Amino acid sequence: MNFSKAIILWYQKNKRNLPFRKTKDPYRIWVSEIILQQTRVSQGLPYYERFVNLFPTVHHLAKAKEDSVMKAWQGLGYYSRARNLHHTAIYISKALKGKFPDEFEKIKELKGIGDYTAGAIASIAFNKPHVVVDGNVFRVLSRYFGIITPVDTIEGKKIFVQKAEELLDKKRPGTFNQAIMEFGALQCVPVNPDCTKCILIKDCKAFNKRIVDNLPVKIKKTKIRIRYFNYFVFRAKGKILIKKRTGSDIWKNLYDFPLIEMEKPVSLRRIQKLAPGLVKSYSKLIKQVLSHQIIFARFFEMNTLRKNENSDFGNTIYINENQLNKYAFPRLIEKYFTAKFG
Ligand code: SF4
Repeated sequence: MNFSKAIILWYQKNKRNLPFRKTKDPYRIWVSEIILQQTRVSQGLPYYERFVNLFPTVHHLAKAKEDSVMKAWQGLGYYSRARNLHHTAIYISKALKGKFPDEFEKIKELKGIGDYTAGAIASIAFNKPHVVVDGNVFRVLSRYFGIITPVDTIEGKKIFVQKAEELLDKKRPGTFNQAIMEFGALQCVPVNPDCTKCILIKDCKAFNKRIVDNLPVKIKKTKIRIRYFNYFVFRAKGKILIKKRTGSDIWKNLYDFPLIEMEKPVSLRRIQKLAPGLVKSYSKLIKQVLSHQIIFARFFEMNTLRKNENSDFGNTIYINENQLNKYAFPRLIEKYFTAKFG
């Protein structure tokens, strides 16, 4: 049996029962693909369910306030995905009158949609013969065919896309794409795959050459940036000052507090110098690991309220503490709230 048939048969027997696999609605497939980028299914699934309950159609999402969309995304990370979803929903709802484009090239023109997502929507929702090449697909193909070209190079990407195109079942492109991704997620996993239970073991080059652990090859190591955030928390009489993040840095359009970033951890003496006599207490360093950054944050509780909300820190508002659940905060700030209020 050839690779594609074997993979599809395996998929039909072993696939997980996921809600977005039961629909051909391009809106829901789009939402699921965006949520599941960079996110494990177990983590993404409750977000998907909540998201499509809140915004069941592209028109509902288009009409939603941005703060509600960000709130629904809170804790999932990579927040530009939510902003782009919202932006594109408005475009589809208004300019395209709610009709999702059904051609790969047209889908790819939408903001926040690249080759991967366009291929997934075109093949799964519209049965168009386009491949989807994600980390799972790289891994399965590199191992089964023994491809040693690094996956994170232009040449590598070209080779893997060509290979996937050769293998694509043109009559069932959506099923084939989902099958190979699911196979990578459940069977040919990154570390210690159980090859003895694999249907492809006989012809798997990596298994036969004993190089499973060496594939796929990657050349670039991700550079990690370390950052130190000093947050100033102004709270009194049941009110708290929060700040909307703008600009191109992480967490755009989410809320945190007035912040001074420094190159190194800062001593309390230095902070006392910056804000003489105003610091009431301060937290331990709280660590937040992102994909390319590690943030160490300290929260300084200030013993005064700022009178002028929109002064030097900009974009700040006082809200009642019991309104906090209406605003979307990054996980780092949630950790602070949990440490502070339990
Ligand atoms: S035999 Fe092992 S390495 Fe090869 S495809 Fe199966 S799980 Fe992956």
